[in-house]
Amino acid sequence: MPLKYRITLVYTFIVTIIMLLLCWAIYFYSAQNRVIQFQERLYRKAYSTAVLLKSQRFNADEVKAINESGNSSLFRKSINVYDAQNNLVFTYRDPDALPLVVNNAVLRTAKQRKKYFFGWDGRDAVAINYKDAVNEYTVIVASYDNDRVEWLSKLQAILAVCFFGSISIVIITGYVFSLGLVSSIRNLTNRINRISADNFLYRLDTGSGKDELQQLGTTINELLDRLQRSFDTQRRFIANASHELSTPLTAITSQLDVALQRERTNEEYKKIIKSIKDDAKRLGLLVKSLLEIAKASDSTGGIELASVRIDELLMGIPTEMKKISKLYEVELVFDEFPEEEDQTVVYGNMPLLYSAIKNIIHNACKFSPDKTAFVKLSFTPTYIVVTVKDNGPGIAPDDLEHIFQPFFRGYKQNNLIYGSGLGLALSKRIVDLHKGDIRVETEVDKGTTFVITLPIERLEKEVYNSETPDYSTLN
Ligand code: ADP
Repeated sequence: MPLKYRITLVYTFIVTIIMLLLCWAIYFYSAQNRVIQFQERLYRKAYSTAVLLKSQRFNADEVKAINESGNSSLFRKSINVYDAQNNLVFTYRDPDALPLVVNNAVLRTAKQRKKYFFGWDGRDAVAINYKDAVNEYTVIVASYDNDRVEWLSKLQAILAVCFFGSISIVIITGYVFSLGLVSSIRNLTNRINRISADNFLYRLDTGSGKDELQQLGTTINELLDRLQRSFDTQRRFIANASHELSTPLTAITSQLDVALQRERTNEEYKKIIKSIKDDAKRLGLLVKSLLEIAKASDSTGGIELASVRIDELLMGIPTEMKKISKLYEVELVFDEFPEEEDQTVVYGNMPLLYSAIKNIIHNACKFSPDKTAFVKLSFTPTYIVVTVKDNGPGIAPDDLEHIFQPFFRGYKQNNLIYGSGLGLALSKRIVDLHKGDIRVETEVDKGTTFVITLPIERLEKEVYNSETPDYSTLN
């Protein structure tokens, strides 16, 4: 069933139930009220009859005369009076009323309860027991509440008109309202359908209002912004990766072409092979970095998490740097260790963390003229902080905001020092993955300091348990 009919149906159903309850409550309360009022009048009539009969000044004929005179507002009334032995001592009835015949049970109940209301011959009746020092009477008055019947049937008509009138209004307004809602949703759907991977620039018109549909539109626009950024990053990444991979491959091919053009001396062949080896090595490093980036972009499912001692991890890095270049030096300084052992441990993936910290230390050695990285490990109650400082050229302010983007290489470093532009991007992804942070302080021609902050195991486990991190958003 279309949404507009469903909304109208639900809306009408709810209002119908409410209206039915309301009408029933009004009718029931009014009817009850009228019954109580009429019973009060019957009681007053029965009581005044008893008082008149016992009085010395009136006799039964006079009571009859009073009732016949039409002063009483009771309609089709019948009155019976019984003495203490249940003998009928007085009776009266209007010309259009049936004679009142009651059994002993009614008289007995009236004596027990003093006041007893009951129905008789389609009329309301009351039996009261009146007793003083001398006499005891049971007076029964029955009458037809003509007014109530008329009034209730009028009330029924009014309520029926109100009920059907309001249901009709509800159906019409519900339909119009649902049409408006459905058309807004349809507009939104049509606009969303116009968006495709090739037409990502198109955005929904959210207007200036603040209703739920406009908020939905704003949320979709924000989602599209994020997707567009992610698509752009991916496109750039693929373009850069292809370029970076094809450069050494082209170099290798052209060197082989040149080598094959004519016979060469052993020395020349050696030189060409060495150059090709360098290019192949570069290619290998690049592919390794790309694989690591792919791994760091994985979800937790693909990454093994365990307790990692950062001090132990750092101890292996100086040897690693020496393997890359004999010139590289790493000066390690550890702050005083905290008493609590869990404050020295990070919950994460050892190879990835090693790779992240190593890249930053490698950059410090690579870029600084003294080829030395000063590394300090310190602890706070909730974080482990690794500070990597160098006396290198620093990072130009224009470069600073791009250094974590894949394939970005500083202007100065582009040709002078070999690199792929993937090291910091990879480090940032890994540190983000571990809910940590990387901060950079730099001064041109003075040096650079990278501060890596990682939450300690206890804190990080709490974060992992409380939420499933969204690694797909990492760029
Ligand atoms: P790569 O080192 O391969 O160029 P990175 O991603 O590691 O790529 O670094 C990106 C850029 O950030 C570098 O090209 C360089 O311009 C700058 N950079 C990183 N670390 C340092 C540093 N310690 N000193 C100066 N510049 C740095």
